[in-house]
Amino acid sequence: MIRKLIRKVLELPSGMGKRRAKPRVFPLPQHGIRRDQLSHAALKVTTRLQEAGYAAFVVGGAVRDLMLNVEPKDFDVATNATPEQVHHLFRRSRIIGRRFRIVHVMVGPETIEVTTFRGGSVDDTNETGRIMADNSFGSQEEDAHRRDFTVNALFYDPSDETVIDYHHGVKDLNAKKLVMIGQPARRYQEDPVRMLRAVRLAAKLGFQIDEATRKPIRAHAHLLKKEPAARLFDEMLKLLMSGQAYACLKKLREEGLARGVFPLLDAVIDEQGDDPFLELSLASTDSRIRADKPVSVGFLLATLLWRQVERRWTQRIAAGEKSMPALLDAISDVETEQDNDFAIPRRFSVTMREIWTLQARFDSRTGARPYRFLEQPRFRAAYDFLALRSEAGEVDRELVSWWERFQRGDDAEREALIAEAKAGGATDPAKKRRRRRSPRRKGDAPAGGVE
Ligand code: ATP
Ligand code: MG
Repeated sequence: MIRKLIRKVLELPSGMGKRRAKPRVFPLPQHGIRRDQLSHAALKVTTRLQEAGYAAFVVGGAVRDLMLNVEPKDFDVATNATPEQVHHLFRRSRIIGRRFRIVHVMVGPETIEVTTFRGGSVDDTNETGRIMADNSFGSQEEDAHRRDFTVNALFYDPSDETVIDYHHGVKDLNAKKLVMIGQPARRYQEDPVRMLRAVRLAAKLGFQIDEATRKPIRAHAHLLKKEPAARLFDEMLKLLMSGQAYACLKKLREEGLARGVFPLLDAVIDEQGDDPFLELSLASTDSRIRADKPVSVGFLLATLLWRQVERRWTQRIAAGEKSMPALLDAISDVETEQDNDFAIPRRFSVTMREIWTLQARFDSRTGARPYRFLEQPRFRAAYDFLALRSEAGEVDRELVSWWERFQRGDDAEREALIAEAKAGGATDPAKKRRRRRSPRRKGDAPAGGVE
């Protein structure tokens, strides 16, 4: 009864500063996180802050992940020290952010994000309920209340190895439930990106989104359109790099978050149907991430949008254009159509374009061209991309195997491969033109310029 009452009070939007609720405090046996499981930097930062007389806790995703035996990506620390006080304690630190200032503390190769407890009211919203200002300091309890999901609002105190829980986070974590703190609809209005976080975290953790948290998503999906493209891109990237990209995309579609909301995903999801290429490429990204192997964002984006490029490439070739110019035109068509919507930072879009452009060069297998191609810095990425296309049945396997042998071969073997390609008529220009002018039947292998 009392618990119910407290929960009710916690959901009140205003007068937050006056609220007083006692958190549950869980000792080590009930959560299992030993202080030596923290990173060196996280332990050092919390310890130094506490020694200086401040409250300091590891908070958020790291506590959640440690309780789930998942290795945390990074460690965040929450404290009652102001940014200036934190900065003063750590020589290698800097205050960042204008609206809400946080401190980055560098310890060895690690960076710990230290935030001062946030509080104040959530009344600083615009007419749609979007939070416009989020910049006042508060108590630990208020800080917990401002976080998104109950499992993300746990604090860990390394000094006595306790977990402090204001919102039934431990209970929800054990039940594998993602539950929004407060009233879900209002929390989505405050910050629509929380809807994407719900989907991503549920997929990442293998959690169910609690029904009350899930339900308002569809009706609030449109709010995402107003979010800055760069923030959406960041969130989208997190989603794609979560090791559960495929599951996330499916879930986004199920929850009505894909179409018309997320420009980059729109394209992908429109094409998704049962596109084996996309499925394969996401599965391969997911397994690389789960195996802790590096993933190139440019490569990943190239696979996501490839279907659009490939379709236009095929059409242009069918209309009589030559392979390379047709590909370049197809790429610029796609780039102009999507333009700023995508907000793909240049460092990624350049790689993406290169990988696409190079696809036309696998065709040329005579003379000096294959040698020159091998020296191209992006050859390997382009080749991996070709292999993926071939796995999806888009390109003849023989072509992939030829290039595979050409990479490995010594001089004599390479000469023999070139002769073999020549004999197969691979680069007979007359033959190529004839073939490409003939109308393409539906069901034909798409033109990747592949013989
Ligand atoms: P990940 O595993 O992706 O790092 P995370 O939960 O740690 O997941 P972060 O973006 O690192 O995500 O955020 C750290 C913490 O900040 C979260 O655990 C949550 O408590 C809080 N937080 C992050 N984004 C929001 C948001 N949009 N609204 C409210 N709280 C948020
Ligand atoms: Mg995190």
